[in-house]
Amino acid sequence: MSSICVYCSSSDAIADTYPPVAEALGRELARRGHELLYGGGAVGLMGVMAEAAHDAGGTVTGVIPAKLQSREGIAYDADELIVTDTMRERKRIMYQQAEAFVVLPGGYGTVEEFMEVLTLKQLGYHDHPIAMVNVDGFFETLLSFFAELREGQFARAPITDLVHVVPAAETALDRLERALAQDGLPS
Ligand code: AMP
Repeated sequence: MSSICVYCSSSDAIADTYPPVAEALGRELARRGHELLYGGGAVGLMGVMAEAAHDAGGTVTGVIPAKLQSREGIAYDADELIVTDTMRERKRIMYQQAEAFVVLPGGYGTVEEFMEVLTLKQLGYHDHPIAMVNVDGFFETLLSFFAELREGQFARAPITDLVHVVPAAETALDRLERALAQDGLPS
């Protein structure tokens, strides 16, 4: 069992295309015996994913700053809810407890969280696998900007050296599991 940290939208106003992907990820994490580590909210894709993981018998850990509890709700689907004083503390706990990361469609918060684990990986602070679920091409604009960064030598490595860009939740977990298994092998 691995602790897999998921960053995703806290919005309930997004298109119907996205919640099924969050639901599939939650269910699949539980079915494969992984712990879901996430932002602890009951809203948006976070809520859908946590409920699916919980209903499928999975282990769910939420980490939420006290200030956001009223806005993002409290995840009753979490087996463990860690309430932090600050956003920084939330991010630190999620980062430190995670063995792998998944990013689903989301807004500024999701993008910020993803950028942090991406840049830390580029700098060698961690070597955990990261999967980006590019649902219906949601991340294409960001990916083409990353390609421009690479082309202009602003980025040291192509994004695909650092992140598994995949079309679906199941594929994300296949890739992460493979990377985690390889990590355990002697070099
Ligand atoms: P969003 O993608 O904006 O819907 O936010 C997704 C999650 O990121 C929510 O749980 C937010 O609380 C969280 N979030 C928002 N802003 C930040 C930030 N500056 N740093 C870390 N997480 C954030």
